[in-house]
Amino acid sequence: MAIVWVCRLGVDAYADLGRHLDVPRFECPVCGEPMVLWGFYRRYLRVGTWCKRVWIRRQRCKACRRSHVVLPQFVTNGRLDELGVIGEGIEAMVAGGGARKVAEDLGLPHTTVRDWRRRFRTRAVLLATAHKEAVARIRYCIAEMAMGAITGDVGAGKSVALRAAVASLDRTRHTVVYVANPMFGTRGLYVSIVSALGAVPRFHKAEVMAQAATLLAAEEVERHRRVLVAIDEAHLLSPAQLEELRLMALCRGGDYAEEGEHGPGSPCCCKGGLLSCSA
Ligand SMILES: [Zn+2]
Repeated sequence: MAIVWVCRLGVDAYADLGRHLDVPRFECPVCGEPMVLWGFYRRYLRVGTWCKRVWIRRQRCKACRRSHVVLPQFVTNGRLDELGVIGEGIEAMVAGGGARKVAEDLGLPHTTVRDWRRRFRTRAVLLATAHKEAVARIRYCIAEMAMGAITGDVGAGKSVALRAAVASLDRTRHTVVYVANPMFGTRGLYVSIVSALGAVPRFHKAEVMAQAATLLAAEEVERHRRVLVAIDEAHLLSPAQLEELRLMALCRGGDYAEEGEHGPGSPCCCKGGLLSCSA
């Protein structure tokens, strides 16, 4: 099995290091046990007109006796060309370029580029299915006013799925608070919500907390709009921030709760769906 290693080295530096590569030891993808280093193998890697032999690290699991290869992220299993070159070719074809023209531009054989396209078409169907599923799950969270987290590799399309789910919402019935980066402490969360709801945040944390609660309740009860808080890069949230989010989601509507569909003191739905998206 191949393990993808997000390697900080560029292609040239990787090739130049040869067998002096410092590859971290991974856990066995089959049984989860730590693996031992198990030599290297050599393969060709083509980057445009440049084609060299590079060393690829092997690791072996003592428990299940399987060996696995550790590929830097720019090397693909079973393909000669570097991932960036393949990506460039695919992008050009998605934009309408023919395989023959793209192959000419990249200085590669037509059959190679045609093969990438064929493979991409089959994979695109799977990607589209995963995207649809993510969008459906986000919509479910919004409808149920639940807190949800989307996790996935960098570039897997988490933010795209979030945008697609938000785009399909009735904007007269929903208010979306989008936080691109949550590295601003617990007060920052309240400030983002208050600002997104069109008010000027008060200075002290206790005041801004009360202000946020009042505004959120007013959105729900007076304007009949559901508030959705979407947080990108949610893996950066601190435990304290997560606790504040939890409390906000459970927050009682106070005076408004009596007028709402819930009785006084019951968990209020004024906070809408809280959705976090992590890389
Ligand atoms: Zn194993």
